[in-house]
Amino acid sequence: MNTQEFRAAVRGWLDTHDLSPGDDHSFDAQVAQLSRVRRALHDADWMRYGWPAEVGGLGGEAVLRAVLGEEVATRNLAEPGIYSMIEVLAPTVISYARPELAAEMVPRLLNGDEQWCQGFSEPGSGSDLASLSTRAAPDPDADTWIINGQKVWTSLAQFAARCVLLTRTGPGHEGITAFFVDMDTPGITVRPLRTMHGVDEFAEVWFDDVVVPADRMLGRPGDGWRVAMDLLPHERSTCFWHRIAYLYSILDNLVQQSDPADDLDLGAAYLAAHTVRSRSYATQQRLGAGGRLGPETSVDKVLLATAEQQLFDTCRDLVPGAVEWTDPVLRSEYLYSRAATIYGGTAEIQRNIIARRLLDLGKGDSG
Ligand SMILES: Cc1cc2nc3c(=O)[nH]c(=O)nc-3n(C[C@H](O)[C@H](O)[C@H](O)COP(=O)(O)OP(=O)(O)OC[C@H]3O[C@@H](n4cnc5c(N)ncnc54)[C@H](O)[C@@H]3O)c2cc1C
Repeated sequence: MNTQEFRAAVRGWLDTHDLSPGDDHSFDAQVAQLSRVRRALHDADWMRYGWPAEVGGLGGEAVLRAVLGEEVATRNLAEPGIYSMIEVLAPTVISYARPELAAEMVPRLLNGDEQWCQGFSEPGSGSDLASLSTRAAPDPDADTWIINGQKVWTSLAQFAARCVLLTRTGPGHEGITAFFVDMDTPGITVRPLRTMHGVDEFAEVWFDDVVVPADRMLGRPGDGWRVAMDLLPHERSTCFWHRIAYLYSILDNLVQQSDPADDLDLGAAYLAAHTVRSRSYATQQRLGAGGRLGPETSVDKVLLATAEQQLFDTCRDLVPGAVEWTDPVLRSEYLYSRAATIYGGTAEIQRNIIARRLLDLGKGDSG
């Protein structure tokens, strides 16, 4: 099925199957709604397109997943931030997990049975991810690894059945090892953290003598940095297509509430949204043509964060009082848009990557 046929078929199906969320805007309700939407889309096979047959998919280009996400976001069926977790985590699990493990686990994510989380950041390691210190030590007699340490800002941890976890198994970048950990393993403690938009989106996660089977390692000992470098470009690009569609729907609403005197501000917000959409389209095309995502996705991330914050700034300016007083949904989105320059790596770090790795700048200093 090509992209147009797929889009038309998905639209036809969504027109006749009501997956609208209820009035409960709590985070628990959003996560439950996400599972419901994934389950329905998986049962109808839409969620399986663009994924390889080895993990229960129906094949086809990865761009079909983006088209599905766009239709879901445009109809406001699932919160776009948490919908993206599949795009962030599943491709890396497919690349690095044992094939049998990926075949067993990925369908559970696609069909809404499970949420997964990403255990990278630590209290002392965010931008400087390679300094992480959560330790994994081998127990060769038992063919297991024992994990001790703490993660933080782990989105959806309190809902997650599994975690893609980075640990330290030796010095330096080559001493980082990734595991796919069951979150109900004894020794894991999750304490939710509230964001400034009033949602328990992420959590602190402690690991106290957590025993993980050796066959849950992603790749080999020391592959963890490569796992991270493969995962982060997805978090900084492919998962944005449907978020951009969502931003367009916010912009459409704003245009309807505005008058011609606002056209300059609306035009600037549109230009920022259109710029990231064009960039994201090129990224989707590159991925579809078999390209590998890398540091160039930092451009997508900078453009997305810029467009998102500009759009919600424009909402605040053109609809006086809405963000501050009258529109709790818009207020929540406005506050959450501030996180766009932090999650997935801060704007400063993305600009460092662009300068050093894409533009080859900075040779004159110690870096
Ligand atoms: C909504 C949200 C969800 C998140 N979800 C997850 C998740 O699921 N899993 C996970 O592992 N993490 C998650 N994070 C954490 C996120 O990855 C980190 O917050 C981010 O990488 C920054 O790390 P930090 O918070 O430790 O800030 P720091 O690294 O302490 O940075 C503080 C400030 O210093 C600046 N800075 C640091 N180093 C440099 C430098 N070399 N050059 C220039 N400026 C620099 C930064 O840009 C920033 O402004 C999430 C964050 C948010 C906001």
